[in-house]
Amino acid sequence: MTFLDRTTDARKFRHWPGNVEADYIYTSGVAGERFFVALRDEGRMLASRCTACHLDYLPPRMFCEDCFAELTEYLDVPKTGRVAAITAAHIDRTGAQLSHPQVWAFVTFEGIRGGLVHRLLTPPDQARAGTAVRAKLKPRDARTGTIADIEGFEPVRSRF
Ligand SMILES: [Zn+2]
Repeated sequence: MTFLDRTTDARKFRHWPGNVEADYIYTSGVAGERFFVALRDEGRMLASRCTACHLDYLPPRMFCEDCFAELTEYLDVPKTGRVAAITAAHIDRTGAQLSHPQVWAFVTFEGIRGGLVHRLLTPPDQARAGTAVRAKLKPRDARTGTIADIEGFEPVRSRF
């Protein structure tokens, strides 16, 4: 169909065959690099703080999304977080069937805006939102400065 052809079928406007360039390189940015270096070298997870808004952000960011102030203060994320949401994956990122389902969770931390999506190191039938969890890190020598330096989050006994 060309621009001169008239169509009365709206579905024809919704897709077309072709190729789209999709070669992107994502960088972690200043705040992200600080997060990954602290994770790799010290086994710490950092959040950034907006002192004006009294907001802490995870992942850390350079600017406050509420007041747009530059954020230069960092703090440690509490060791224990909570599972806010879960899902089970049955295929890997290439589409290959997994031998057993993997559980993924959105983990949040008290007083911090945001959180991390990562593996939940529990069988699917034991995965629950609300579970108190801690990050299980790879040994220092095996860390490379990526999110994979965290093996996943494992349940801890809750005081609540
Ligand atoms: Zn702010």
